[in-house]
Amino acid sequence: WAKAEGRGRWAVYDPERSAADIARSALAAGLPAALDRGEFVLHYQPIVSLLDGTMLAVEALVRWQHPELGLIGPDRFIGLAEETGLIVQLGAWVLRQACRDAEGWRRAYPDARLVVSVNLAARQADDPAIVDTVAEALTRTGLPAELLQLELTESAVMGTAGEPLRSLHQLAELGVRLAIDDFGTGYSNLAYLRRLPIHCLKLAGPFVEGIRADGADAAADHRDERIVDALVRLAHALELWVTAEAVETEEQAERLRALRCDTGQGRWFGAPVPAPQIRARLAGGEPA
Ligand code: C2E
Ligand code: MG
Ligand code: MG
Ligand code: MG
Repeated sequence: WAKAEGRGRWAVYDPERSAADIARSALAAGLPAALDRGEFVLHYQPIVSLLDGTMLAVEALVRWQHPELGLIGPDRFIGLAEETGLIVQLGAWVLRQACRDAEGWRRAYPDARLVVSVNLAARQADDPAIVDTVAEALTRTGLPAELLQLELTESAVMGTAGEPLRSLHQLAELGVRLAIDDFGTGYSNLAYLRRLPIHCLKLAGPFVEGIRADGADAAADHRDERIVDALVRLAHALELWVTAEAVETEEQAERLRALRCDTGQGRWFGAPVPAPQIRARLAGGEPA
């Protein structure tokens, strides 16, 4: 009978859909209290030189240590935090915590010059207060600006007004590095890209996934490999660094190095881990 009332009504009465919606709203409703109670934690994933294996940076990846549901990944709550606007406060916490951890590593291992890379959601990057928030995280923690990198997706860079965020230039003036995250999956305006104060392109996982040394992608005519080749050349022509995301095998790492990709990130180089394990890896010098 619900179907007879039309598609919209059907959705309302779909028991599975409503259960999912209820779970979603409950999760969203719990976000502010979770922030107050300190239930968010940062894990860090190494970003490694493809030339010599040195850990040059780490990406901060937020998780929610939920009292009943356990450790929840960002894909389940970042979107909700964007919808409710809490992303601004959550993002400010992430920035401060990441800078605090990075300053701790810098004091212990100054020669490592380890960069911490922090994701900015579109709504957070579009917030007029973002420049102050970043500046404050740096001054409060003492982290030198050049050891902070901010990751924005192509759509976040372009903002709601359809032109690059003006704050990007102010952020670059602070001395922080800017990276385009998931590059190649969004809408990139090359005319803008060449004029933006960007330092790094992060090649999206799906392109890396298609790279296989054994030629298993022969059917696809090595298309992904040729795309990576082209994107690395583009990045280098613009004098940008390139990081390949989601590097899962030694073969991928080797092919990426042959394609002159600068750095890699992914399970092959190390999964995201709590801060103390990054310190241990710095202490050990090499892959831990
Ligand atoms: P991202 O920025 O593209 O982060 C990379 C994602 O790839 C992470 O997922 C990471 O755990 C995952 N990954 C690591 N190694 C591999 C691998 O070998 N293969 C594959 N296929 N994936 C790998 P995670 O931690 O679940 O984060 C998902 C997304 O959530 C991130 O994508 C980012 O967009 C967002 N996110 C995470 N932390 C934050 C944050 O603090 N603020 C904001 N605004 N967004 C965040
Ligand atoms: Mg990222
Ligand atoms: Mg990414
Ligand atoms: Mg992503």
